[in-house]
Amino acid sequence: MSNNIPVLNIPKYHADELIGRVHSIESFGTVDGPGTRFVVFLQGCLFRCKYCHNRDTWDLDGGELYTVTDMVEQILPYAKFMDASGGGVTVTGGEPVLQAAYVGLLFQKLKEHGIHTCLDTNGYVGVYNEETNKMIEQSDLIMVDIKHIDDKKHHQLVGVSNHRTLRFAQHLADIDKKARVRYVVVPGYSDDLDDVHGLAQFLAPMSNVENLELLPYHNLGTHKWKALGLEYPLEGLQPPPKEKMDDIQAVFESYGIKTIR
Ligand code: SF4
Repeated sequence: MSNNIPVLNIPKYHADELIGRVHSIESFGTVDGPGTRFVVFLQGCLFRCKYCHNRDTWDLDGGELYTVTDMVEQILPYAKFMDASGGGVTVTGGEPVLQAAYVGLLFQKLKEHGIHTCLDTNGYVGVYNEETNKMIEQSDLIMVDIKHIDDKKHHQLVGVSNHRTLRFAQHLADIDKKARVRYVVVPGYSDDLDDVHGLAQFLAPMSNVENLELLPYHNLGTHKWKALGLEYPLEGLQPPPKEKMDDIQAVFESYGIKTIR
């Protein structure tokens, strides 16, 4: 860690170095992209998902400050392990697109070391500029969480519109960027089969999408809300039954979308 770095809301430039606001790091992640991965959780998110399992990442002023150089130094000792498993580095959050310049430069440096890079994002990109374009370009794989295809229901579930996310997914398709989609099945919110058909119709023409990962809602993040003195919004909600997951998978597959669980 560098010392004497000024506290910034969303950190950007400090001398000729880029600074990221980092919630935490995990050196052997196995669920955020291919192989064994070093996972960087960036701080800050503008979504308000009712089921958020990383509630402590929302605060834009939280986390620790790492320069790109600091972070590369943290990662390099694990490079051989990652490489042997077909893995690499995943940047997630929180929401990493809020720190697009940092992600772009970090990925550029990692790729110079031959390390595979993966961006895990909700796609909340406001403008497509040099920074966001570089972030996309330097990502070997992009995993996009699409929370809901219906804008009104998206609002109810995560507090913001889905327009930016859908535009991001479409942009990746337009530039033929390798992508995977994640969809969380939340009972009573995102398990309606009509909505699933709608999302499948949106994704079906996208030849850049390798697969869709179907994830059942879980309440494992409840303790983080409670630790912050907050009420968990979906208290008592149970994960979807296997039959519902089967039905939803069948819809996606009927559109030719490779679906994994
Ligand atoms: S996008 Fe991720 S970090 Fe942000 S609120 Fe939703 S689940 Fe939490």
